[in-house]
Amino acid sequence: MTRLLLFAILLIVVARLFWRLVDAVIAGAARGESAAGSARRAPVKLVRDPVCGTFVPPRAALSVTAGGSTHYFCSEECRRKFDSRQ
Ligand SMILES: [Zn+2]
Repeated sequence: MTRLLLFAILLIVVARLFWRLVDAVIAGAARGESAAGSARRAPVKLVRDPVCGTFVPPRAALSVTAGGSTHYFCSEECRRKFDSRQ
């Protein structure tokens, strides 16, 4: 009888996890669709951080314009390193 009860509890837990997974997949698919839609409108071109080599979206990156060209950095630390090199 105890075994049956444990089995029932396990079944409930598994069912809950399953539905949570289904919800996550549906939400993920919806997000993916909207992300793809915005990507079509404005393709995001990534720029390379010359210090550490990380690719960053220009909007989120720190930028420095030096000698007529703009450099983008992933962090303040990389920007400072670049400044000290010059
Ligand atoms: Zn960096």
